[in-house]
Amino acid sequence: AVRVRFAPSPTGFLHLGGLRTALYNYIFAKKHGGSFILRLEDTDQTRLVPGAAENIEDMLEWAGIPPDESPRRGGPAGPYLQSQRLALYTQATEALLKSGAAYPCFCSPQRLELLKREALRNRQTPRYDNRCWSLSEAQVAQKLAKDPKPAIRFHLEGEAPAFQDLVYGWNRHEVASVEGDPVILKSDGFPTYHLACVVDDHHMGISHVLRGSEWLVSTSKHLLLYQALGWQPPRFAHLPLLLNRDGSKLSKRQGDIFLEHFAAAGFLPDALLDIVTSCGSGFAENELGRTLPELITQFDLTRVTCHSALLDLEKLPEFNRLHLRRLVSDETQRRQLVGKLQALVEEAFGSQLQDRNVLDAAYLERIILLRQGHICRLQDLVSPAHSYLWTRPAVSRAQLGAVSEKVDVIAKRVLGLLEGPGMSLTQDTLNGELKKLSEGLEGTKHSNVMKLLRVALSGQLQGPPVAEMMLSLGPKEVRERIQKVLS
Ligand code: GLU
Repeated sequence: AVRVRFAPSPTGFLHLGGLRTALYNYIFAKKHGGSFILRLEDTDQTRLVPGAAENIEDMLEWAGIPPDESPRRGGPAGPYLQSQRLALYTQATEALLKSGAAYPCFCSPQRLELLKREALRNRQTPRYDNRCWSLSEAQVAQKLAKDPKPAIRFHLEGEAPAFQDLVYGWNRHEVASVEGDPVILKSDGFPTYHLACVVDDHHMGISHVLRGSEWLVSTSKHLLLYQALGWQPPRFAHLPLLLNRDGSKLSKRQGDIFLEHFAAAGFLPDALLDIVTSCGSGFAENELGRTLPELITQFDLTRVTCHSALLDLEKLPEFNRLHLRRLVSDETQRRQLVGKLQALVEEAFGSQLQDRNVLDAAYLERIILLRQGHICRLQDLVSPAHSYLWTRPAVSRAQLGAVSEKVDVIAKRVLGLLEGPGMSLTQDTLNGELKKLSEGLEGTKHSNVMKLLRVALSGQLQGPPVAEMMLSLGPKEVRERIQKVLS
């Protein structure tokens, strides 16, 4: 059975890069009827960020890609927090010590620091010199008496095994000569990433490891661990990096790449899923506006290439606009949007709301239907440009007089139009009626009539088409705003 995992460290909140890795795993699981597991790699206790674990799981749920097994949901392979699985790492380490594949290391932090500095001085990559590997049994026993909790290192023996990555093809990374033997269990009893990852992927029955390409070079090391433990390794598929449009690292943007920022700013989860996949590879088609079920249908791991994905966040509002329109066209979803808009209006205009019931579902739905396509986010409907929808503008006679000398005449004609069937017309026919109205006013330009109406209705010189404004507000409200204009 296909079992995949997303294994972030709770050292920060979920950002777009993490979302993308999680999403590929989710899609791969769903495509093959498998399970998607969330495992939190919290073995570096010094780097934990409060709230990060909750945020990661909350945001996966918000994004619509909830894990099947996770710290919160539990599951047959739990616990899903590495700090609660320490016995498994100790067990594996003991097996490695017993077979001679691992050994205790008594080197002091000072000695390791010196080694590092010396290497850097000689412009070499710091490398542990494997000194403790050659300690005799007697020496080990003697040192253990003084230092009963040494770190444990894994001895990298022989040639690194080659493996066929499902994205990057055949790979082999010389690990032994480069870094020296890695620590697998620290003296505090916590494992390092390499051991914990191998032990958990094995015990959790992970079939495929889909993770960022920054881990490609560690894979040979992991394979040596699988070999030494006598375990069958999973298949590996490393995913190319997600970068900014200019090729810089995504993390460099700071602040605005975290999911909770996008959620609070009113972006739709589907728009985010769409944008982080459309800039990468793996899908049969690449047109905008794809939903999660479509992504699952179109995904094919063999289509993933090694090219980095360049993310252009400036396009996000456009993605959001498409997804918003899609939601509006669905009656159930639209009803939910009405509820959300109601909350937004109350929050933004609460105390200033006029007596007219602008929180009525029918009114809100009409606004959404008329404005969709012109706005990117539902939030845009409570921007200052749209405030005329929720509160009456303060318009002075002088403001109107500056537009036209014939304020009263025009206002009366419009009131006349409102008496007739005009207001039940569509935007196009209402426009026709307004045009006729201007033609009936000798010496008055149509554009001035429209401008006057715009100011009278909204207090602003710019905004949506006048006919649309009238249809939004409805005949009763338009009449009241025009009547106020008459001296
Ligand atoms: N904890 C690692 C990370 O945060 C996981 C790497 C892996 O998926 O093996 O990137």
